[in-house]
Amino acid sequence: MLEAINLKKTYKVKGGEPVEALKGVNLSFADTGMVFILGKSGSGKSTLLHILGGLDRMDEGEIVLDGKSSEKYTEKDWDEYRNRNIGFIFQEYNLLAEFSVKDNISIALQLQGEKVTDEKIAEVLKRVELDGIEKRRPTQLSGGQRQRVAIARALIKNSKIIFADEPTGALDEATGNSILQLLKELSKDKLVIVVSHDREFAEKYGDRIIEIADGLIVRDTDNAAA
Ligand code: ADP
Ligand code: MG
Repeated sequence: MLEAINLKKTYKVKGGEPVEALKGVNLSFADTGMVFILGKSGSGKSTLLHILGGLDRMDEGEIVLDGKSSEKYTEKDWDEYRNRNIGFIFQEYNLLAEFSVKDNISIALQLQGEKVTDEKIAEVLKRVELDGIEKRRPTQLSGGQRQRVAIARALIKNSKIIFADEPTGALDEATGNSILQLLKELSKDKLVIVVSHDREFAEKYGDRIIEIADGLIVRDTDNAAA
């Protein structure tokens, strides 16, 4: 189980007013299921996702994963938290243009000293329905295919949690639907947290819809019939 306890984050900008992006967020997540975090632009969605995923630090509060609190985490503990538990998917895919699909999928794990076999890469590509494209470059792929590579990259880590920040933001509606369908499938045995401003997608695919406005959770709805 993943819990967020009283998360607060203020951005201090030189010469400007500080921005309170999170004002005390409390949430707890089951180990599986597709959860949408829904809110307008600027409401704090990405900040929340980055903090939950260990990409950025809160000013106050803690994250508890499977009973272990972040309170005493060192930088090394944070690296491990992120590397072991979390897979990320971004709107702009964040693939490395100079590298093949195969290298994009395996490089992060290899940098951590883990061995990645060709079989394992073939297997994750199959799961995202992209068999046999190991040698291609991201520029030779459509937006939907790029996002599937990003999902394969998250899958190869075998992480407990997948965080997706506006994963369909750069895709047409049909492709967006197919990506969410794939994430929904994965959420049967992982926790998938999707940040979005698209209520229609949230209602169609979310088992649970958490609404955020101005740095606070304002609504939390069970939508398990989806
Ligand atoms: P969302 O993802 O919902 O659009 P964000 O979490 O990106 O919202 O931003 C929440 C608030 O924090 C916004 O007012 C935004 O302008 C501000 N913000 C986000 N990132 C930064 C940053 N690095 N520096 C300063 N302000 C930021
Ligand atoms: Mg955002």
